Amino acid sequence: MIVSNRLPLNIVKRGGKLSFQSSVGGLVTGLGPVHRQKKGLWVGWPGVTLDKFKEEEKEEIYEKLASRNLSPVFLSEEDIESYYHGFCNETIWPLFHYFPEFTVYDKNYWESYVRVNKAFCDVVVEVAEAEDTIWVHDYHLMLLPKLIRKKMPDATIGFFHHIPFPAYEIFHLLPWRKEIVEGLLGADLVGFHTYDYVRYFLGSVRRILGYDHTLGEITLDKRLVRADTFPMGIDYERFAQVERDPKVQKEIETIRKRMGERKIILSIDRLDYTKGIPQRLEAFDTFLTNYPEFRQKVTLVMVAVPSRTEIESYVLLKSQVDELIGRINGTHGIIGWVPVWYLYRSIPFHTLVSLYRIADVALVTPLRDGMNLISKEFIATKTDGKGVLILSEMAGAAKELVEAFIVNPNNKEEIAEALKEALRMPEVEQIRRNRILQRRLQRYDVEKWVEEFIKELENIKDDQKEFKVKILSNNMQKKLIDDYLKSNKRLILLDYDGTLISFAPRPEEARPDNELLEILRALTQESKNEAIIISGRQRETLDLWFSSLNLGLIAEHGVWIKEKRSKWGIIRPVGNDWKGEIRPFLELYADKTPGSFIEEKEYSLVWHYRNADPELSARNLVELKDSLLHVAANFNLNVLEGSKVIEIKNAGIDKGLASSHWLSKGDWDFIMAIGDDWTDEDTFAALPETAYTIKVGLGRSRARFNLYSTGEVRSLLRELVRK
Ligand code: UDP
Repeated sequence: MIVSNRLPLNIVKRGGKLSFQSSVGGLVTGLGPVHRQKKGLWVGWPGVTLDKFKEEEKEEIYEKLASRNLSPVFLSEEDIESYYHGFCNETIWPLFHYFPEFTVYDKNYWESYVRVNKAFCDVVVEVAEAEDTIWVHDYHLMLLPKLIRKKMPDATIGFFHHIPFPAYEIFHLLPWRKEIVEGLLGADLVGFHTYDYVRYFLGSVRRILGYDHTLGEITLDKRLVRADTFPMGIDYERFAQVERDPKVQKEIETIRKRMGERKIILSIDRLDYTKGIPQRLEAFDTFLTNYPEFRQKVTLVMVAVPSRTEIESYVLLKSQVDELIGRINGTHGIIGWVPVWYLYRSIPFHTLVSLYRIADVALVTPLRDGMNLISKEFIATKTDGKGVLILSEMAGAAKELVEAFIVNPNNKEEIAEALKEALRMPEVEQIRRNRILQRRLQRYDVEKWVEEFIKELENIKDDQKEFKVKILSNNMQKKLIDDYLKSNKRLILLDYDGTLISFAPRPEEARPDNELLEILRALTQESKNEAIIISGRQRETLDLWFSSLNLGLIAEHGVWIKEKRSKWGIIRPVGNDWKGEIRPFLELYADKTPGSFIEEKEYSLVWHYRNADPELSARNLVELKDSLLHVAANFNLNVLEGSKVIEIKNAGIDKGLASSHWLSKGDWDFIMAIGDDWTDEDTFAALPETAYTIKVGLGRSRARFNLYSTGEVRSLLRELVRK
């Protein structure tokens, strides 16, 4: 199921009759096959309000839409005003394109946005089935993934963001930033055009909600969410084939006649402040001033498609552009030569592609653009390979079209020079560059884009299923309890932080609560049990917390062992002479990362960064690990990464070694180990396959089973001691 703000059709009433015209465009072409698949539905607004129609017309609309597998969400005039023109176009659009000065923060707009997203959710839930795959599109519907997730927890939900996702510095200006990221995290896969947008999104998730990520994967309490790059392509063949169209050939002839032999520089966009149109005109002015030899030899054809004409910033832009064009034509023009040909209207497809075909240079210089399709379409129509693209580095497309002239849209001189170079570029060079670009665009066209997104979504669905299978189900839990009851000699290895207790902001705040002590007491009072806390903490801490209980203890990730009613001992002698070398590194990074601190254990050093700025600590962590690499190898040390900590200790001594020690001590007929981070993986690895190994939280693990939370671990233990 596809969900987007607009359905791919227009309903028009002409002479009292309704007509339904399918809209064309890259997205529609790409998504068409997905939509046509059996039972594929498309949910969206059909572009009209119902109150304009008579009853029988309404019925006709519903019928016609249903026959095309389209499910409408009807918006009221007020919704269109405050959700669409308001929140979408006056809040999200300017802010996400780095125009905070145009951004309106209005509570009514926001409330309307919430309301409309809910209305979309109602329609989706009505027409979807529990395990459907639902692909939501764009910034109009950022709350929808979470809303759908709530009602349909087993659905597979993808979201694609078609505009830029801004850096945190900009994004956090939004009063509703938390709701927006939460909304998006309802999806299983969130797609963006470029890696920068992915990074910014992940950064905001980390800063606003505190969720970390590994290689674009965020682990929520019960789900994984992946963020990834899918640069949207175009319907390549549609553009590559235009030269054969007689209508296009005729149009090219007409334009050529009117233009004479002059070279054509083409500029096409919606009249939007993100497109950098005034800056482009000024750059053209600079070009004519700096390189007068091109006067009368070139014409800038500027097509500005009217857009959002009711918003003030667009009205102002229009008069600014009108004025600039007047000034340039007045200053540089002579009788018989108008430097800028200006068309303020939308143009039919055959004219658009004729302009692409005939232009010598395309000047595409947005100040900010999620992708920019004009640049790609221009290259695709150039089947003879001739023509030069000048492209802004602020367009998402610049990440892919690297053979174009990449310019800074604010740098008039640079653009002027690029124009000169482009107009003088030898044909062989033009062809060389364009062939590379074309191959790339042909390969990664819009269909491929859809295919890749859906493929990844399906992969995630499989991963989610795999995790689900590993979740310790009720049945499996019953079997575990049965085996427990049947057994006589039980080894129970329990990690502490993140397993028996949720993470506390500071290590000393994590002391066991009464409920936990009660559970542990009951566990140790059963004579058939040997229960062991297997922790990274220091001996003193474990003594302080657990000395009243009949527990075995393992401290410092396996360095120290304390059997019941005996003293602490060391499994294998270890040295400490490395500490003096390593400590300065950690101190340096602790100073560079406010909020982080160093903990010194007897046989290890730990850097804790739980309370530091997440972005900064993530960056400094990479640096620190890098600088530790050599020293650690020289001293035969292990660098362990836990949850918001990094610990340096002697290699070869880990929880696995300590577990093996206990394993060899008895003839156990029931073994269970529970842990949450990767230091516990050594424990899991050391145990026989029949052992009940359980990882707390999602994520890949050697453990046979997963439980979601420390709460679930406690209830499992409670069940055991109750029996
Ligand atoms: N386009 C159009 N009519 C016109 C001029 C352009 O339909 O008169 C199309 C053009 O073919 C392109 C799209 O509008 O597919 C513009 O997409 P782009 O990503 O460049 O900018 P956006 O308008 O989405 O910000």
